[in-house]
Amino acid sequence: MLDILRLKKNTAGIRQKVREVVPDGNLSACLTCGACASGCPATGLMDMDPRKFLRMAVLGLDEELERHPWVWACTMCKRCYDVCPMHLNIPQLVYYLRSQWPRSERPKGILGSCDHHIKSRGGAMGVPFEDFKFTVEDLAEECRQQEGFEDLKADIDREGAFFALNQNSREPVTEPDELLPLWKILHTAGADWTYYSDMWGGENYCMFLADDTSWETIVRAQAAHIDKLGCKVFLNTECGHSFFAVWSGLQRFKIPHKFEFKASLNTMPNGSGRENFPSIPTGIPRASNSRFRTPAILSENPWEIPWPRT
Ligand code: SF4
Ligand code: SF4
Repeated sequence: MLDILRLKKNTAGIRQKVREVVPDGNLSACLTCGACASGCPATGLMDMDPRKFLRMAVLGLDEELERHPWVWACTMCKRCYDVCPMHLNIPQLVYYLRSQWPRSERPKGILGSCDHHIKSRGGAMGVPFEDFKFTVEDLAEECRQQEGFEDLKADIDREGAFFALNQNSREPVTEPDELLPLWKILHTAGADWTYYSDMWGGENYCMFLADDTSWETIVRAQAAHIDKLGCKVFLNTECGHSFFAVWSGLQRFKIPHKFEFKASLNTMPNGSGRENFPSIPTGIPRASNSRFRTPAILSENPWEIPWPRT
C-alpha cells in the first residue's frame, strides 16, 4: 500500500525564500518535464538532478537541501534555465543554497582560490603582481626575437590603451607559453591593448563560492582600475565563467563604469584599418538555445559565441 505524503504548510522555507530573491523563482510552476535534467552536466551525480532538486524544494524538504553537497556539483552553467519552458531559475536556487553554507565549510578548493584572489589582488593562483610582471616582460622579449613579432607589445597599466585585457592567472604560473598565441593574434589584428595590474586575473571563484562581497570586490576593483587607465573596452577572452562573472557582476552590484565590456575584437578603433577584422559578434541579447557550445562544431559562423542571459 502506498504511503501518503503529507506536507506541512511551509511559508518560510526555501521555496518562499527563492521566490523572494529571484523574480523567476516560482518553483511551483514546474511541469516536471525533465528538460532541465536531460541537459544538465550534474545530472546523476550524488543521485541528484535539477528537476529532483527543485521538486524537493517545492515539497519543503528544506533540511535535506540545506547542506546537500550537490549544490557544489552544479556548474552554474544555466543550461537548465535556458531550456525550461516555465523559465525557472534553478541556478539561482543553487546559488542561494550555496550562500547559506557557513563560509568555512564551503569546498576548500573554491574557497582557497577566492581568498588567494582577494589577498594577492591578482588572481586565484595568488601570484604576486611582480611575478606576473616579470613573466610578461620576459616572454614578450622572447617573442620579439621571432620573425614578424619584432615590435610586439605586452604592456601592463598603459594609460589610454583601447583594450584592457584580463588573464587567467594559471597560465603565467603553469603554462606561460600559452600567453603567446593571444598576444600574437592581438598584434596581428593591430589591437591597442594593455593588461591591468589590480585584480588582473580573469577568473572569479568568489562567484562560485556564492560570496557576493568578494565577487563584488574583484569586479569593482577591475572596473575602477580600467576606467582609471582610460581604456575604452574591457576585453575578456577568458572562459565562460570569467565572462559571466564580470558581465553579471557589473549589473548585480550596479558597478559604474565607462568602458564597454566585450568578448571579442569586433570593436576596433576607427582608423585602425582593422575595423573589419573577423570577429565574434557581441550584442547578441541571449543564447539561442544553449550557452556553452563549441562554435566551430555547432555554429555555421565559426566566430559566433552565445551571449549569456540574465
Ligand atoms: S525544465 Fe523547468 S518545468 Fe521542466 S522539470 Fe525542469 S524546472 Fe520543471
Ligand atoms: S546550472 Fe547547469 S549544472 Fe546547474 S543545475 Fe542547471 S544545468 Fe545543471
